[in-house]
Amino acid sequence: MESVAFITGANKGIGYEVARQLGKAGMKILLGARSRTRGSEALEKLRAEDIQVELILLDLADPKSIHRAVEDISHGYHHVDILVNNAALLLDEGTALMDVSNEMLVTTYLVNVLGPFRLIQACIPLLAPGGRVINVSSGAGVICGEIEGYAPLYSMSKTALNGLTRHWAYHLKNKKISVNAVCPGWVRTDMGGSSAPRSVEKGAETIVWLAKEAPATLTDKFFRDKAEISW
Ligand code: NAP
Repeated sequence: MESVAFITGANKGIGYEVARQLGKAGMKILLGARSRTRGSEALEKLRAEDIQVELILLDLADPKSIHRAVEDISHGYHHVDILVNNAALLLDEGTALMDVSNEMLVTTYLVNVLGPFRLIQACIPLLAPGGRVINVSSGAGVICGEIEGYAPLYSMSKTALNGLTRHWAYHLKNKKISVNAVCPGWVRTDMGGSSAPRSVEKGAETIVWLAKEAPATLTDKFFRDKAEISW
């Protein structure tokens, strides 16, 4: 049976590169995108590279959209081997905590935290033993050291994503489904900006490694550059 990888926010940036690399490795790609236009453009580019890919429309801010996306997948494929929770928003760069608006607060948590939570929950019937869930987090979410104050809302959302990574890892351990988080480093994308030192290839590297090469027994861990880091 072919391996199926579902990647959210895969129309651009790190998600697109993960889709490209896993597709090149022979996996069937389910390309999650919230815009049909932007998703179709990415789909065409990947098909031009002979990658087997289907578009899954998915707006993580909308629970109904998450439900519909998973229903679409279950009709067509019956299983998902790799789920990459990659999509996220960074709305509060340069905003002090006191100035965070209610809309920023709600949208950030809907997309960066509740969306991945709901998607994992909805995908459980499709994830067989050996399945891998990879949550794309950030060093900004680390709380074991000093808080740096950068984009506090985004950072807190990644801390929450790390928390849900650990709890899903615990919950799914007996089913032999691994759940891990990755910090891709600072990457040149629309989110990371043009001054970032890393290419999207480098940003995708650890996610792709976890999806296809890392021992399946690795779970409940946070990685950067294929090495474990502290939460
Ligand atoms: P990006 O280029 O801005 O791409 C973000 C993706 O998320 C886009 O496909 C975007 O779709 C999608 N998205 C946003 N809101 C969504 C929603 N409501 N529903 C579904 N999809 C939505 O960002 P990136 O740099 O590739 O980031 C990918 C991941 O890496 C994120 O989790 C980010 O937090 C993490 N990360 C990035 C960096 C960095 O330096 N770039 C550093 C640390 C962690 P649209 O195109 O429709 O907006």
